[in-house]
Amino acid sequence: MPIKGQAYSQSNPNSLWYPYVQMSQLELPGQVVSAEGCTFELDNGAQLIDAISSWWCVIHGYNHPEINEAAKEQIDTLSHIMMGGLSHPWSQELADRLVDLSPEGLNHVFFADSGSVGVEVALKMSLQYWHNLGNTSKRKFVCLRNGYHGDTFGAMSVGEPDDAMQIAFPELLMEPFFVKPPGFEETSLEDALSELRQIFRTHHQDLAAFICEPIMQGYGGFHVYDPHYLKVVRELCDEYEVLFIVDEVATGLGRTGRLFAVDHAGISPDIMILSKALTAGYLGMSATLASTKVFESFWGKDPSKAFMHGPTFMGNALACRIALKSLDLLERDLQWDDQGVRTLKSVMDMESYFQEELSDWTAQGVASIRILGATAVVEVDDVNRLEGFALWARERGVWLRPIGPFLYTMPAFNMSRHDLEQIIQTIKIWFEVELPKREA
Ligand SMILES: *Cc1c(COP(=O)(O)O)cnc(C)c1O
Repeated sequence: MPIKGQAYSQSNPNSLWYPYVQMSQLELPGQVVSAEGCTFELDNGAQLIDAISSWWCVIHGYNHPEINEAAKEQIDTLSHIMMGGLSHPWSQELADRLVDLSPEGLNHVFFADSGSVGVEVALKMSLQYWHNLGNTSKRKFVCLRNGYHGDTFGAMSVGEPDDAMQIAFPELLMEPFFVKPPGFEETSLEDALSELRQIFRTHHQDLAAFICEPIMQGYGGFHVYDPHYLKVVRELCDEYEVLFIVDEVATGLGRTGRLFAVDHAGISPDIMILSKALTAGYLGMSATLASTKVFESFWGKDPSKAFMHGPTFMGNALACRIALKSLDLLERDLQWDDQGVRTLKSVMDMESYFQEELSDWTAQGVASIRILGATAVVEVDDVNRLEGFALWARERGVWLRPIGPFLYTMPAFNMSRHDLEQIIQTIKIWFEVELPKREA
């Protein structure tokens, strides 16, 4: 067993298979042995500021005293009980809290264990909705180019079709309709809307649901788009009887400055998926929220209309308790502005800081800058400009891991100004000093 400060030596170096990497080229900085606040420590003693909050989920930092305390208390009470035929107060309370906090009309919560599975649940729910209503033709999805919804088959099907993640299994994926979000390949809002209208007009009889990451696409390209688009999606879904699913796995629970990204558009979807931030990085969990309309199509005396899905770990009591504590922390951070808009103070402060530091900043190689809530993205004109960046940043004490041409930071909401400055300086110095040296 690895203990703090000591490397664990292995006889079979590949017993552990890592994600998204050619294993023959795997390069690790060492083992992470502990973490505290926004910093984690390696077995060689190095301390790294986590600029991407462990894939965007550790929103309150590591080792949070209040969450730890709640988790320890819960372990001594009840860690897990199956949800088939049983319930417990923490899953009930979490469902009620999520219903209270989420956009109007989302009144029912189905728990699962990861973002991808939460998306599968949403896709299955929307297909069975139509099936239960006796409509056998509405079987297709509409989704956005550049999207990312997870790594399982259904979730992959509705993600960017040109992504390298999909090339080995084309025949197994559903074939949805893809439309361009505004801004994608310079598509104007008008053109994006007219493409969307065209698809709805022509194919509505076959359409089960529209699915997207609202306002900000994550892994697919950190693309930020006009909230007005979502208002029109809502109108079209109503007009043509198509369900509207929002994947808020990345954006939900504060990341964009509002509790939910759809709050920027003032709309309610029929189905919404939450995951990454839900348990603040402590345990895997997702919540798929559904409207009363969707829920009611499953209601009745007919057992075949029931929702036949049930992950072993759904509603895990420990995860629920942690999520409840995380929501307490988020709610403490809520504020209402003059227009009555609900925002997160810490995230809005971080957004202002990113604006001050980056909105007027330019450097050789920087193609564009995008800032939304607790996210800042620097897109480069050539992916080679970021070669060697992660290693160099690590040597400066910052954990930043670009995805393709996107150098981005998504810190914990409570990161100190000092740590944020380190991150911003690391990004700027790379472009202003290090890169010119390397390219000379
Ligand atoms: C990360 C992510 C998922 C997948 O979640 P996992 O927990 O990794 O399965 C789905 N949708 C979006 C928008 C994500 O960012």
